Amino acid sequence: MNNHCCQAMSSRVNVRCDQHDDPFACPDALIKFSAGFQEYGLIIHDGGTSSITIDFYPWCGRRLPESQRDRWFDELERRGIDPWEDDVPAEFQDDRWLTTLPQD
Ligand SMILES: [Zn+2]
Ligand SMILES: [Zn+2]
Repeated sequence: MNNHCCQAMSSRVNVRCDQHDDPFACPDALIKFSAGFQEYGLIIHDGGTSSITIDFYPWCGRRLPESQRDRWFDELERRGIDPWEDDVPAEFQDDRWLTTLPQD
């Protein structure tokens, strides 16, 4: 359940292609959304899996939601989980972990 800012963005983030399961292999896929970090990136089609994190929506120019990357690491640390060594819980692999936090 991810709400992107507008229809143009949603259709770009959710490109589903018959020929490529992997968005990095598909020339039609431009935007990668990391649900865990709430980050958007431009896919670099160099044969690898790199992307450039962006701060504004390319289609409507609105500011993107703040990245939750720092908080993601903080919350794992608070639970005593080392993301490099331990298994990352399923709720941290998408945006579910955000709903478990106290709202501020
Ligand atoms: Zn938009
Ligand atoms: Zn494709």
